Amino acid sequence: MISVKEANQIIISTLYNPKTISCPFDKSLGKVLAEDVFADRNFPPFDRVMMDGIAINYQSYAQGQRIFPIEDLQAAGQEMKRLSNPENCLEIMTGATLSENCDTVIRYEDVLVADGNATVNVETINKGDHIHREGTDRLKSSLILAKGKKISAAEVGIFATVGKAEVKVLSEPRVLIVSTGDELVDIDQIPLPHQIRKSNVHALKAMCAHLGLKADLLHVADKSDEIKAQLSAKLAEYDVLLLSGGVSMGKLDFVPEALTALGIEKLFHKVLQRPGKPFWFGQGNGVTVFAFPGNPVSTFMCGWRYFAPWLATSLKQEVKTSYAVLGETFSFKPALTYFLQVRTSYTEEGKIEATPIPGQGSGDLANLVETDAFIELPAERNTFEKGEVFPIYSFRS
Ligand code: AMP
Ligand code: MG
Repeated sequence: MISVKEANQIIISTLYNPKTISCPFDKSLGKVLAEDVFADRNFPPFDRVMMDGIAINYQSYAQGQRIFPIEDLQAAGQEMKRLSNPENCLEIMTGATLSENCDTVIRYEDVLVADGNATVNVETINKGDHIHREGTDRLKSSLILAKGKKISAAEVGIFATVGKAEVKVLSEPRVLIVSTGDELVDIDQIPLPHQIRKSNVHALKAMCAHLGLKADLLHVADKSDEIKAQLSAKLAEYDVLLLSGGVSMGKLDFVPEALTALGIEKLFHKVLQRPGKPFWFGQGNGVTVFAFPGNPVSTFMCGWRYFAPWLATSLKQEVKTSYAVLGETFSFKPALTYFLQVRTSYTEEGKIEATPIPGQGSGDLANLVETDAFIELPAERNTFEKGEVFPIYSFRS
């Protein structure tokens, strides 16, 4: 049996190798950018007016002029006009290009417009006011987005601004989620007294969606030959398999044996942790296999604790561990890393505080809805004091 740390190290060195693919920019949210993006023009591309008001030639103002006859109007989207008489002004709108022969914009709030004149009624006008000068944010051809960045709404806005309809992104692994267990029925069925609805695979599929992945579902019976036959037909189609159940000591727990027979090399089986001790992990035929124990909290915790960082590392994202302050003293005797379910909140000092909500064990999936995260309490100790800081794995953010 190996430690959580060793298990994690094996997992994040057994990665999926992404390809560079093309993606419509408006479908790229959450994906990882696989090309550098440059400014196609200056940012802004012209001297952009920042306030509605009037545009003047500052020299007239500097010489004491305060009443400016209105010559014309320069609206956003109009070609650049020209102020023909530097003692006049143009009314000008936010988003317009600054008119020729003008160098200063005065806000409507600071002028009185009447009878074809604009009268300036403040003494705080400076040359160049309210003009967002061409190229002051970024110059044409400069790097705006470096590859490797996870695409958020901000990056989508940049793609649109530079006219990039298609962006290169990293491909995501194709995921198959497999339930095992003859006691499981589909969610649209009424279970018999000895049956339950399968929930783990749907929770895992939702986790994948949360992480930006599509996933397919498959159910296999607790029969060795059937597991082998059904999975062997799928290995070529997927990059990663997430299994739930069938990896413990039970007489019908055939998953490890079936995976080995399919050419998936076991990299570890059993981790010194609770929940999720029987976790099996392997790789072969180009497929990475996470076989989680079937208890719902075990599957759920292992998915977030091990699969999520594996995915992020595979997609070349830096994985930073978050830490939280334990809100109450907690004891756990076995020499196992304990993933304690917690509810999180922010303290007045801006720290994350984790209040234990331990629940009734790894079968108690209802308890998950009261919690936000798992805090990782080390195997070497039994008592964890209020105020101590430990790694935390959130499934809501
Ligand atoms: P196993 O790991 O196969 O021994 O299963 C452990 C427990 O988890 C059993 O009580 C199973 O009924 C339950 N279980 C396994 N798979 C699922 C699933 N997909 N949804 C809900 N419960 C499950
Ligand atoms: Mg089972």
